[in-house]
Amino acid sequence: MSDCTFCKIVAGRLPSHRVLEDEHALAFLDIRPASPGHTLVVPRVHARDVWEISEFSHGKVADMVHRVAALLKTAVAPDGVNVKHNAGEAAGQDVLHYHVHVVPRWHGDGLRLTWNSSPASARELEKVLERVAAVR
Ligand SMILES: [Zn+2]
Repeated sequence: MSDCTFCKIVAGRLPSHRVLEDEHALAFLDIRPASPGHTLVVPRVHARDVWEISEFSHGKVADMVHRVAALLKTAVAPDGVNVKHNAGEAAGQDVLHYHVHVVPRWHGDGLRLTWNSSPASARELEKVLERVAAVR
């Protein structure tokens, strides 16, 4: 897509701080990092989100996420890491080109990337499974 920011980065038409790249995916530093080393991993071929990306391309991005997480573990020595994708505006997706955030974490870093949750009953879980089974 010609007006997509991440397509422009992939093509080298916008600058980026490239962490890693191969023929299928590119990893670069987020310009608004949640923590030092916050990296985005994107497919070279445009896809909007997890619902649009091909299974093949998703697998290649996942492979690079794995490599980036290992690199960051050595490079910035975090205590943990968050791996996160937002699909759709309701989930907080800001750039509409599939991307995975790899966010190094440290004890006491104050970041809040969590959500409120509460225990579900077995019946509630079974009802969800029934809906999934109906479309699988
Ligand atoms: Zn794009």
